[in-house]
Amino acid sequence: MIEDEDRILVALSGGKDSVTLLHILTKLLGETHEIEALTIDLGISSNNYSETSLEAAVKNCREIGTKLNVVKLGDEYGFTIGDAVSNLRKNGRSPCSICGIVKRYVLNREALRRGFDTILTGHNLDDETTVLLSNLISGDISLLARTHPFLGANQVMAARGKPLSETPERETTFYATIRKLQHVTAECPYASGASISALKTATHKMEEVRPGAMLSLYRSFLEKIKVSLKVPEDKPESRKVVPCMNCGMPTSGSICSFCKIRKELTNGH
Ligand code: SF4
Ligand code: ZN
Repeated sequence: MIEDEDRILVALSGGKDSVTLLHILTKLLGETHEIEALTIDLGISSNNYSETSLEAAVKNCREIGTKLNVVKLGDEYGFTIGDAVSNLRKNGRSPCSICGIVKRYVLNREALRRGFDTILTGHNLDDETTVLLSNLISGDISLLARTHPFLGANQVMAARGKPLSETPERETTFYATIRKLQHVTAECPYASGASISALKTATHKMEEVRPGAMLSLYRSFLEKIKVSLKVPEDKPESRKVVPCMNCGMPTSGSICSFCKIRKELTNGH
């Protein structure tokens, strides 16, 4: 996942997982690799969510001695996730689906712009098995094919990795607690509704009944089931992308999803 010369960009949300990831990486690789963090200020004002997230990111980077890059969505792109919510709900779309597209776009753009090889995120085992279960239930083969702890780079996309994808959430919580790492404890006010929470609870029940089941499910899927899916694996060389006609970033169509969202939310400005 991490090569000798890699410049690493950690996606730092301010939550316990990304804070833990940054802390561990800095301890393990701080002497040998260039590591910086990037926080996207999503502009979620409800519960002061973005403000407290950014405060936690700033405090941790100061303590650890890591450079923090901040992108304010509103300043840089003219809209925020907070602005987007009412508009999106009108169209029946979930804030998280839009927010996911926005975060992936901004992270990749900033990584390429700043010369980073790899973007690392703090997704933990609970996150991964919950999403896997959801995609299995809906039978979404293309999303299932995109389940991976690491995706290599190509000319238009930095590599992406999830070093904590086999680490249960309770362990990142432990780590953050015993190291006294400041992190946001409030849940995002737009967090996906009942169905994802219920699936997460189901994975925890499964783990209670059969310890190790979450890891087993995740690994079995990656090692045994995914290989037999009848869609090409999402390998860098098989990703057919062209530059977006609007922003030049990679897309499989003519205009990338981010530019479509931005146009919708800013009336084309
Ligand atoms: Fe974005 Fe959803 Fe995460 Fe909130 S919970 S930060 S809307 S992805
Ligand atoms: Zn674009």
